[in-house]
Amino acid sequence: MQIDQYDVIVVGGGPAGLQAALTLGRMHHQVLLLDSGSYRNDPTGHLHNFVTRDGTPPSEFRALAHRDLDEYATVERRSTTVASVEPAGDNAAGDGFTVTLADGSQALGRRVVLATGLRDTLPELPGLEELWGDVVAHCPFCHGHEFAGGHVALLGAGPHVSRLALMVSRIADRVTVLTDGGDLDAPTLSLLSGAGVAVRDDRVSGLAPSETGATVSFAAGPDEEAAGVFVSTTLTQSAPFAEQLGLAMLPSGGIEVDVMGRTSLPGVYAAGDLAHVAELPMAFASVLTAASAGLVAGAACVADLLAIDHPVPVPA
Ligand SMILES: Cc1cc2nc3c(=O)[nH]c(=O)nc-3n(C[C@H](O)[C@H](O)[C@H](O)COP(=O)(O)OP(=O)(O)OC[C@H]3O[C@@H](n4cnc5c(N)ncnc54)[C@H](O)[C@@H]3O)c2cc1C
Repeated sequence: MQIDQYDVIVVGGGPAGLQAALTLGRMHHQVLLLDSGSYRNDPTGHLHNFVTRDGTPPSEFRALAHRDLDEYATVERRSTTVASVEPAGDNAAGDGFTVTLADGSQALGRRVVLATGLRDTLPELPGLEELWGDVVAHCPFCHGHEFAGGHVALLGAGPHVSRLALMVSRIADRVTVLTDGGDLDAPTLSLLSGAGVAVRDDRVSGLAPSETGATVSFAAGPDEEAAGVFVSTTLTQSAPFAEQLGLAMLPSGGIEVDVMGRTSLPGVYAAGDLAHVAELPMAFASVLTAASAGLVAGAACVADLLAIDHPVPVPA
């Protein structure tokens, strides 16, 4: 069977993979970009905090990126799911990686950029999922300003929630931490009260859409209206490739990379939400940083292939 060969196969067509493909296409490398069509920011109507793209629908962002990529003859895009990524031989010699698609067909990449992202699991609470993405949010940089002047509720009792409450109190008119039966220690309570943040510790029973945003219901006691509700989500890798390739992982569940996006396996790069350097506690997850990581990983692949194709010392 004839197997198509590429300089670099990019798995994932979110901002990280799109930018990696653009960087490689501009250097006239043969690139295959594989995208299963499921993106972390699918639940939201508009992305924020990306200069020139603030408020753009994510689908529009991707359409613009596809238009950019289609200008480069060496970039091929396919809408498909990847089943596996395996070393094809001796990576040090540039034998590369076999990428098997869901339909069983294969492609060979001398280098691979993993850009498959993370997925969020929400706390279990009736009505939460329906509001997730715009009224219910997890990141004040992405969705915070939109709640300006309103009442914002934050669900949970961990240290992260108190920190978030203090950040949001700059933006919202009124902020309430809903501990849902959890306890906050005395110093935290005093810090929050000093910043004008209210604390409600009774059990939350559910959320429903309302004219202002959400109605939060409690097991006992009156409902609260909120313009926005912040929650913490549990993050997991969207795809099994880090595990398949035995890549070094970090305590956050992210793939360990160096500043150039290199993973622990030579020839495999990772960019975007799924990876970060060990110095950070977790990925700095945003569209712009994912795109930036894609650019770096793409450029690192260019340097890597240059060193293989020209083994004599190339002047720096
Ligand atoms: C609700 C919500 C709102 C957000 N809002 C903002 C915002 O306003 N501003 C902001 O900067 N950030 C926002 N973010 C964060 C942002 O979405 C992520 O940081 C960004 O999408 C990460 O990009 P990525 O390319 O790493 O991954 P993703 O965008 O998740 O892309 C992953 C890609 O991998 C593909 N893929 C996965 N598995 C496979 C497979 N097996 N085969 C082939 N392809 C595969 C997917 O189809 C997709 O193309 C938000 C996140 C959430 C959850």
